[in-house]
Amino acid sequence: MTRIAFIGLGNMGGPMAANLARAGHDVHVFDLVQAAIDAAVAAGATAAGSAHEAVADAEVVISMLPASRHVEGLYLGDDGILPRIAEGALLIDSSTIAPASARKVAEAAAARGLAMLDAPVSGGVAGATAGTLTFIVGGDAAALERARPYLQAMGRNVFHVGGNGAGQVAKLCNNMALGVIMAVTGEAIALGVANGLDPKVLSDMMAVSTGRSWATEVCNPWPGVIETAPATRGYTGGFGNDLMLKDLGLAVEAAMQSGTPVPLGELARNLYAMNSKAGNGGLDFSSVVRLVAPKA
Ligand code: NAD
Repeated sequence: MTRIAFIGLGNMGGPMAANLARAGHDVHVFDLVQAAIDAAVAAGATAAGSAHEAVADAEVVISMLPASRHVEGLYLGDDGILPRIAEGALLIDSSTIAPASARKVAEAAAARGLAMLDAPVSGGVAGATAGTLTFIVGGDAAALERARPYLQAMGRNVFHVGGNGAGQVAKLCNNMALGVIMAVTGEAIALGVANGLDPKVLSDMMAVSTGRSWATEVCNPWPGVIETAPATRGYTGGFGNDLMLKDLGLAVEAAMQSGTPVPLGELARNLYAMNSKAGNGGLDFSSVVRLVAPKA
């Protein structure tokens, strides 16, 4: 049993912390939202009154926060946790953030003699709940071997893609593809429905044809097609539109820095920005279909 601090218990972090507790670890949790802490405690974790309290004596520290500024603030801010983390602890940040931020925090950790991995995830809330996430890891290979048992308690696939920050680059590549695929899948289903097709029959056909993707099979953007998809519960409880918008912004930034043309990625970033402006920023990103089918 390892003492683990888990900070950030949102749509993803909550079920991830629950899976670590279920695997028998001593998980001390903190979030700014009390209800999120209560849910983790009900799943077997121990409540901490602050991030500092959570990391006291922790052998492993895991964070799952929205964006770069939250991660930099948590570790390096005025009241940051980095100085309080015990000698020899392993740090794992699973948030999706800018590669430069991941490197900055990892370098500060290294200056304190602490190993840190960026380990963003893919698999959505369903994967976090089922413990089948894919971890996309940047950092030292020896640190990854230390982290592997904990990652395996929360996920099924672990990819080592390079040094610190590389996990974030790979995650942004994946999410740029996902953002484009979700938007065009919504367009395709809207086109079918406008021409008299049943969205479920169309999606079932696409799911076994060449238009197949996670967006047709698991997180279908059309309400009622997949019972467990956010679209069917009013686009709630999935991967927020504004988180996808953040990821596409990071992808476009990385593209500009490396001189890479990403015309579809830039277009997709604008679509999710429009969806946010339309008032859907807090909804699941599959609500982007509403830009072309307002009644979906
Ligand atoms: P979320 O907004 O549901 O949860 C974030 C949590 O962090 C919230 O509960 C918030 O209160 C908490 N928080 C923020 N600042 C904090 C602080 N300083 N101390 C403690 N708690 C703090 O977000 P999410 O959907 O769980 O996503 C988390 C990260 O994972 C994001 O970077 C996102 O891009 C990424 N991600 C999300 C999904 C998904 O399907 N939701 C999938 C893959 C990756």
